Parts: sequence; structure tokens; C-alpha cells
Amino acid sequence: MNELQDSFFRVIDYLRLSVTDRCNLRCLYCMPVDGVLPSRHMDILRYEEILRVVEIAAGLGVRKVRLTGGEPLTRKNIIFLISSLKKIKGIEDLSMTTNGVLLERYAREIADAGLDRVNVRIDSFEPERYAMMTRGGDLDTVLRGLAAAESAGLRPLKINMVPIRGLNDNEIRAFAEMTFHSDYHVRFIEFMPSGCLDFWSPEKYITTDEMKKVIETIAPLTPVRVRRNGPSKYFRLNGARGVVGFISAITHHFCEDCNRLRLTADGKLRPCLFSETEIDLRSSLRNGAPDSEIERLLRLSVEVKPEGHNIQGQRSELISKIKDKSYRVQSESSSSASGRPMSKIGG
Ligand code: SAM
Repeated sequence: MNELQDSFFRVIDYLRLSVTDRCNLRCLYCMPVDGVLPSRHMDILRYEEILRVVEIAAGLGVRKVRLTGGEPLTRKNIIFLISSLKKIKGIEDLSMTTNGVLLERYAREIADAGLDRVNVRIDSFEPERYAMMTRGGDLDTVLRGLAAAESAGLRPLKINMVPIRGLNDNEIRAFAEMTFHSDYHVRFIEFMPSGCLDFWSPEKYITTDEMKKVIETIAPLTPVRVRRNGPSKYFRLNGARGVVGFISAITHHFCEDCNRLRLTADGKLRPCLFSETEIDLRSSLRNGAPDSEIERLLRLSVEVKPEGHNIQGQRSELISKIKDKSYRVQSESSSSASGRPMSKIGG
């Protein structure tokens, strides 16, 4: 069986596909207030181009695909993409990261088309705070979406929360307590200096260890193994049905378990979320390159995958930049420690 292995013996079997850089929310930490200039339609990979890449990647050993963005449910005919991806030989797991706004409308259709699971990003269960953090989002709509996803069988349902000091950190306990009465996987993500740098600051960032301390005031946390968990580490609160997970991009360098490549909506392969290195697939796809060339580029991006990210180094540099009042977030390309804003990489 084919397998993609990088220079550090990690098996790369997971492709995160950003299908659009457009979003129907403007979350405080993800997008600047005036939004991000979306790519031109002609620069975004067409479905047949995406499908060709995934077919070749599956032949090399990719087994798991996640759709992300931007907001993947805003892309036209997403159902067609899902059902076509599902038919690709070798793809065993097909999931999506979504903000849930359109889930009520699409949950049944995406499940019927073959999507296995969804991760829903919710950073607050307080309606006013949710609206403030998403710059206008409606929590009720998302809660109805969650219910629709559950009844469509998109399980286990994963909730992604980014705790930010002074904003939603007083909800960490309540999010963890949800696992007592649901089988949700509630995942806490360290707030990374990427996305919207005029919002990020060292004071707002909360470490996994600090989150765990708060959660352990409820009950002890026991480590559990969750199938294909990648960089998230999972625990169960004693007596809970669901699990809590931590994605510690900054404090617990999760790179040794990294099993993924990313393909941006405009056709760039990114071996690492935090590295500027990008390999252009789109030109080859549009210049009549044979499959062997696409395969070579996929192998190359695995070969150049760094052993670990340098977000700590970037962070220190960033903190001094932020402290230096002359620093301004001037352009899209400077709005992230890693070049592109999150909505343009596909977090
Ligand atoms: N629209 C979808 C959504 O809202 O989940 C997919 C795109 S969003 C960029 C994917 C994930 O990235 C979300 O779970 C979000 O919380 C996370 N994210 C974005 N910016 C982040 C940051 N600065 N630190 C940590 N996580 C971040």
C-alpha cells in the first residue's frame, strides 16, 4: 500500500482542503474588521481540479480529507463536491470544519452526500457575546444547526472553542461540563498569533495548562485515546459521556503528531500551517501537467514539511512588534505571523 512519509518519519495521510476564502461571519480573531479581500473566482480551484488532486493524493496514501475555508458551506454546489470526494477510492474519512451558520439548512444533505462528521466552531454560548465575537452572528441559528447535524448522524459532533482572556475564558468550565450530558468532543484551541494580528496580544492568550487547571476544578481528567486524533490530546472528565480535547499549537509543540498537508482555495499546497512555504499546484493543473507532475508536487510538499513550526520565535518577534507602537497591520500579507490570514489558509 502506498504511503507518504516525510523526512521525519511522519505518515502524511490527511489533506485539509480549503474550498473558499469567503466567510459569512467576521470573527474578531480571524478576520480584520473590514474583512479580507476575497480571491477572484478564476483564482479559486474548480471542483474538477480539486477532485483530480484528491484522486492523485489518495493514490499516494491520503485517507482523510477535511473541508474548510473560509466557510465551506458558502461554496456553491458543495454537495456535489462532497459526493464526488466520497466516491474516490482510498478516502475513508470525510469531514468539515464549519461555523454552523448554514448547518440547519445543509446537515441532512451533506450527510446524505457522504460527509462523515463536522467540527463546529462556537466560542461562546452567551448570545450577546457570540454576536460580538462573530461581529453579528446569531447563536440560535448555530444551535439549530448543531441539532440538525446530530439528527443527521454527523457524529461525533466536535465543538471548537478558542478561549481568549477577558472575552470568553469564563465559559471554559461550562464548555467542558457539556460533556457530562452529551457525547460531544469539546476541543479547546490555543489562541494563535495568526489570522488577525491587530486583535491578538500575549495577554489574551491562554495556555492549555491553564485551561486544564480550570477544568480540573470540576473533576479529574483522564487521558483517553480517540481514533485518528492527530495533534489534539483528549481527556474525559470522570463520569462524562463526551471528551474534552486540547490543541496546543503553542505550548506543547504538537508537530511530532502532524499528519497533514493543506491545499488553499487558490491552489497552493502548504506543508505547515505556520510556515510561509507554499507549492503552487494551480499553475500545473491549468498548464496541462500530467498526473505524474501533480504527484511530484505532492511528494515535494511532504518532503519539505518542516520538523516543527517556529511559532514561539515568530511570537516573540510579534510581541516586540506589537509593543513597538509603530507597528501596524497594513496589509493582508502582514495580518498573520505566517503570511496569510487564517480564512485564506483554511484553519
Ligand atoms: N468557517 C469555518 C469555522 O469557522 O470553523 C472554518 C474556517 S476557521 C478559519 C477554522 C478554525 O480555525 C476554527 O475552529 C477557528 O476557531 C480556528 N481559528 C481561526 N483563527 C484562529 C486563531 N488565531 N487561533 C486559533 N484558532 C483559530
